[in-house]
Amino acid sequence: MASLRVALLALLLSTPAAAQSILGFSPASSARQVEIENKLKAIPSAEEERRQHRIFTEEPHVAGSKRNNQLAQYIAAEWKKQGLEDVFIHRYDVYGTGPRSASLEMISPTHYQALLREAPIRGDDDSKNPAISAAWLGMSISGEVTAPVIYAHSGNPEDYDLLRKNGISVKGRIVLVRYSNPYSYRGFKALTAQGEGAAAMLVYSDPQEDGYKQGKVDPDGPWGPEYHIQRGAITYDFMVPGDPQTPGWASVAGAKRIPIEQALSAPKIMALPLSWHDAKPLLENMDGPAAPKDWQGGLPFEYHLGGERVKAHLKIEMDNRLEPYYVVEGRIRGADLPDEWVVMGNHRDAWVFGAVDPSSGTASMMELTRALGELKKQGLRPRRTLVICSWDGEEIGLTGSTEWGEQFADALRSKAVAYINVDEATSGPNLHGQAVASLAPMLEQATRSLKDPSGKSLYEAWKETVQRERKQGTQSGQFSSSGIVGETLADTRIGSGSDHTVFLNFIGVPVLGLGFEGDYGVYHSAYDDFFWMNHFGDPGYKYHTLMSQLWGVTALRLANADLLPFDFAMYASNIRQFVNDLARNNPLSLAPGPQNSAMEGVARSTGRSESKDPKPAGTHYVAPGNSGHDELDLRGIIEAIDDFESAGKKLNESLTRALISGHVDPKLAATLNSGMMQVERNWLNPDGIPGRPWFKHVLYGARYTYAHLELPGLTEAVEKQDWPTAKQQAEILERSLHNNADLLNNLNRRLEP
Ligand SMILES: [Zn+2]
Repeated sequence: MASLRVALLALLLSTPAAAQSILGFSPASSARQVEIENKLKAIPSAEEERRQHRIFTEEPHVAGSKRNNQLAQYIAAEWKKQGLEDVFIHRYDVYGTGPRSASLEMISPTHYQALLREAPIRGDDDSKNPAISAAWLGMSISGEVTAPVIYAHSGNPEDYDLLRKNGISVKGRIVLVRYSNPYSYRGFKALTAQGEGAAAMLVYSDPQEDGYKQGKVDPDGPWGPEYHIQRGAITYDFMVPGDPQTPGWASVAGAKRIPIEQALSAPKIMALPLSWHDAKPLLENMDGPAAPKDWQGGLPFEYHLGGERVKAHLKIEMDNRLEPYYVVEGRIRGADLPDEWVVMGNHRDAWVFGAVDPSSGTASMMELTRALGELKKQGLRPRRTLVICSWDGEEIGLTGSTEWGEQFADALRSKAVAYINVDEATSGPNLHGQAVASLAPMLEQATRSLKDPSGKSLYEAWKETVQRERKQGTQSGQFSSSGIVGETLADTRIGSGSDHTVFLNFIGVPVLGLGFEGDYGVYHSAYDDFFWMNHFGDPGYKYHTLMSQLWGVTALRLANADLLPFDFAMYASNIRQFVNDLARNNPLSLAPGPQNSAMEGVARSTGRSESKDPKPAGTHYVAPGNSGHDELDLRGIIEAIDDFESAGKKLNESLTRALISGHVDPKLAATLNSGMMQVERNWLNPDGIPGRPWFKHVLYGARYTYAHLELPGLTEAVEKQDWPTAKQQAEILERSLHNNADLLNNLNRRLEP
């Protein structure tokens, strides 16, 4: 019977109608969807993208500033004009941060007064704007210190180990660290320096990472010039994001607030960013042992670890206090299923002008909302409700999205289909698409319907990008590093560092993240401006336009699908890969197991499974140790993944069959869709991961550097060799896999002929 069904399905899938079908759509609704998408794609224009981009990049607009708040009003007014509904500005009173003044002078062996300013660039009038801030880092504390300066490389724990080996303590001293490649969140550097007892942290941009060692610098190329300063926050939002004084609940009027001294995410160290121009005098005067080879940077002298010779006087006065942040929300109400929401967002606040980060995304969003408003006027309302948000304070601690998500967590838990984030829409031509594994196939299929400016389909262009970067073994993105699993193009390993975090990790909403990337050395500096975008990032605004199209097509597929386009078999094979990676990267050794062990599940390459180096059958993972007591047995998890995968495959087949039949009973569709929405929620553990209760997802988490961290609770326990916790976390993971396998099996029963 089963084989007959498979044969029938194969036959159905080979028909032209099926070949043309969009995932989640019947042939008829697929044809209609193609028409809608064609209309949508025709609306965004490069001229309008550029015009909107200029409005957002005209003045600096950091979170909490008058300009950023005016832009919130502007967006609300535009959205109303464009035809969006329920436009509303949410106010959150949060612990904000701003600079009052800062000074740094080297007092020994010679005198040098740091500029802490970015020099104007020839041909770029915006770079002369007097409103450009001096060097500052969000959430630094105020203070004053005179102390020796020590070079601590990237400021990671192992860097301090090396200093210790050389007899160098940083206690009470000023550490000078550099931004690093691959990207590591500066807040982690600050926490590490604080833990080491340093009095202050200076963080500079070495030309090796994003300057002349990479290529031509602004205004002759996209890389960072001598004076560029990478601002940024050092908030410990990897512990808990959002307003530090309301961890886990929304900063609405009357909300309880904890004292800032007790806030886990509030740093307790002074910190300041430097251009290499200002770091150079410190570095070249240092004594002490020569720095190891991989600590050397791009400046033309030998780097030293430092000792007593270089002394500096640092004074920082901050203006950290309660202030309002504003989230703008607009909607297009769904025609058929108004209580199912496709949520999308982009942050508005920028360190200075924010041409790439985030205003490229904001411009693309404004052109997308114009297009969606046009469709609505033509009577083409989406089936589900589109909820669109302009976030505030992303740069400070993912603040606006976190507060909004915490405020509406209950509604989102019952209504949200997915969240699509666009932060930096465009810094170049290379697509980077992130997706929870269940949405990777739908995202890939969406790119097939779009055209890259090179003339190829966006899918082909994306594939070439992925292949090129795989060959180089690198990825250029700020937040994406080797996140691609198996044959998928989408990066299915999702860390933190942008506004998707509250949706995925706190509420259990499946997320997508979209961005075009390229050489980009002016991140978070004043030179990330309109001039840079028009000369290097996207001179013709073609990729901005393409982003509006891609974002729109993706959103409308989720909004209009008959049956939501989730692929849980794909999810299962990704989870199996996560488990294999955990076993490979950690002290889990292989030991002979019982006969016919369920570990065969790992070895078996089933369907879309990507187990590249399967463990041999009849073995299982064990932790080191002589007694059986220390054993961490992952067989239960592997079995549960197998069950979840076969239920997912069966569901894929049944859904395809139901769609091809051309008619799905609306009641049945409602049951199936709400069941599929529940899967992501089931990955949440209400207790959160050990030590970080706000982060509740058992599959996805983030390291303190923002880097992706799969199976976070289990992985962290294994890395600490804390076997009791690892066992407990393994049980939680196994239980959620069983829950979801049961859930899918129930849905399958509904679909039985
Ligand atoms: Zn951003």
